[in-house]
Amino acid sequence: MAAIPILSEVLAALPLPTVGIDMAERIVALNDAAADLLGDGAMGRHFITVLRQPALVEAVELCLADQTPRHARFVAGEVDTETTYDVSLRKIDGTDVLLLSFQDITQMAQAGQMRRDFVANVSHELRTPLTSLMGFIETLGGPARDDAAARDRFLGIMAGEAGRMNRLVGDLLSLSRVEAEERVRPTDRVNLTDVLQRTLRNLNPLAVENDVTLKPGFGDAPLMLLGDADQLLQVFTNLVENAIKYGGTGGSVDITSAVNPRDPALRGRAVRITVRDHGVGIDPIHLPRLTERFYRADSHRSRALGGTGLGLAIVKHILNRHRGRMKVTSQPGQGAAFTVILPLDQDAPEGPTHRLAP
Ligand code: ADP
Repeated sequence: MAAIPILSEVLAALPLPTVGIDMAERIVALNDAAADLLGDGAMGRHFITVLRQPALVEAVELCLADQTPRHARFVAGEVDTETTYDVSLRKIDGTDVLLLSFQDITQMAQAGQMRRDFVANVSHELRTPLTSLMGFIETLGGPARDDAAARDRFLGIMAGEAGRMNRLVGDLLSLSRVEAEERVRPTDRVNLTDVLQRTLRNLNPLAVENDVTLKPGFGDAPLMLLGDADQLLQVFTNLVENAIKYGGTGGSVDITSAVNPRDPALRGRAVRITVRDHGVGIDPIHLPRLTERFYRADSHRSRALGGTGLGLAIVKHILNRHRGRMKVTSQPGQGAAFTVILPLDQDAPEGPTHRLAP
């Protein structure tokens, strides 16, 4: 057939994996990208023995029968390294060739899956306190209606559950705000020493309540950087709050700083702030996933302490915005150390400073 050599030339010029199938159901043309995807030796074979996946095979059969363009999914590779393709099928007018082109949509498919997982997680997190609230409302309206002691106790629990929902919604809003701004570099000059002092002042009552001593070891010298002061306050608030919560009573939380004149990754001056507690610590298997939304190393303890599982995810996005990074080291039983590395302002070590809102 005369069309086939020209078709092979056209396919060779296309970047997407592309395959031609004739009405005798054989593969009559394919480019190098398609050969990489489907394996050598596909040429001349029946399409079913090459494509194999039922959704795509069915789409090809339908297209050969009714010649209507359509799309189908094709998944290649192993479980953890899967690539998902959207395959477009279209008969070329005036020939008896059906053309299949494979577009890699793995990232889109993953983003869709992440969105679905996120919605499922949020619903699950909200449902638990909500179910509890509904149960108590029912009890208060019925069996416990005239029991003053039970009423007081239940109202206390209900306030706690409502507080949990409120914290969750607050953290979700923070997360969506910091994600939206992640690509906008901050431009205010901020003194990180002020931010750290402010963090410790704010959290001192919580530390006292938990019998924890906050030990600042970062000195008074200004640490100037380009940043968003409120977001940086949130980073250190989340880290110190976790250290108080998970560090356990009677312990201390040490906050130290060290300036590196030449950080290799940031190619310039950087500061490392370490927040260290001496509590239960974290099993190393959890460390790589700690900043994922809703990931909890110790789910029971986190919930008992009122955690939302979003604090470190918020920290990660804020640090990304500031070109910073975080390292976590921990041995179970010996506490945890969260180190934040941030680029310092290179050009002007002195100058007007953005003040935190009171
Ligand atoms: P949460 O609201 O649950 O504290 P985070 O995102 O702040 O959520 O932290 C994620 C998880 O990391 C926590 O659930 C906890 O298991 C673990 N974690 C965080 N900080 C510490 C710490 N200082 N010591 C031990 N575990 C910690």
